[in-house]
Amino acid sequence: MGKSSKDKRDLYYRKAKEQGYRARSAFKLLQLNDQFHFLDDTNLKRVVDLCAAPGSWSQVLSKKLFNDTTLEQQNERKIVAVDLQPMSPIDHVVTLQADITHPKTLKRILEIFGNEKADFVCSDGAPDVTGLHDLDEYVQQQLIMSALQLTTCILKEGGTFVAKIFRGRDIDMLYSQLGYLFENVVCAKPKSSRGTSLEAFIVCLGYKPPSNWKPRLDVDFSVEEFFSTCNLNKLQISDKLQDWHEEERKIAPFMSCGDLQSFDSDATYRLDDFKGDSILSLDPVQSPTNPPYKKALELKRSGKLTRAI
Ligand code: SAM
Repeated sequence: MGKSSKDKRDLYYRKAKEQGYRARSAFKLLQLNDQFHFLDDTNLKRVVDLCAAPGSWSQVLSKKLFNDTTLEQQNERKIVAVDLQPMSPIDHVVTLQADITHPKTLKRILEIFGNEKADFVCSDGAPDVTGLHDLDEYVQQQLIMSALQLTTCILKEGGTFVAKIFRGRDIDMLYSQLGYLFENVVCAKPKSSRGTSLEAFIVCLGYKPPSNWKPRLDVDFSVEEFFSTCNLNKLQISDKLQDWHEEERKIAPFMSCGDLQSFDSDATYRLDDFKGDSILSLDPVQSPTNPPYKKALELKRSGKLTRAI
């Protein structure tokens, strides 16, 4: 979060800086929690934040699990944050620079948890976009699938999974499938998520996999292979429309969350609409560790950046 971005008039961006969060996404998790209270459970011990950089969700998790808690509670709590990008340290969070689609990552998380399962897994994953809409949608779906696969291998029964999704064409199918693994699946849109974006979050409560089903993390699996032996009626995952049994579809309820009085995330505000200190420009909470544009900046500073013709 820089100082001169045009986003500076987005109030959540501003509030994130004021409250010390590395990204405005922190408010999405906070507003989801205001609705579902999954982080207010005092029994939460092991938590995984997938696709976590720069780390605002991990900051929220760290505060929720470690502020105002007893030493005994703190000793049994662990948060692991995973991202392809390096992350600057966050209190009480173990950061792993790793790919969530790789089986070794699952092994490393389990090692940190002493082979105990997690109570809560969240994923705010977003791949780099290419601008080719179909390809971007496909890669995003693959990332959600990988997050789900990893989650099913690591989440304890009764646990919660929260993940970012984009409400594309096939999203009903995902809700249906999740309904076979969790007691309750809700699609939620926090007020801080821009209304103009297809972004939303699936909140999956009460992990309850079928007893004969073995979760596996394998990126080469098709969705059908992943859900095989899940007692899931084959017709549900058939892509032949005539095979679709309408009465078997599970539709996830859609919910908007966050205070209705809160700021409109699609609006921009003038800084001088706000009196006092808030008019001051604020420094970024955390400078990027190793941004992809680092080399370009170095070249620019040394006057060596040229535009390809
Ligand atoms: N929740 C974060 C926060 O609050 O600061 C923001 C997450 S950002 C929107 C999406 C992240 O997904 C990026 O940092 C990206 O590196 C990460 N990502 C994408 N694909 C990944 C993968 N295969 N493994 C791990 N991280 C991945």
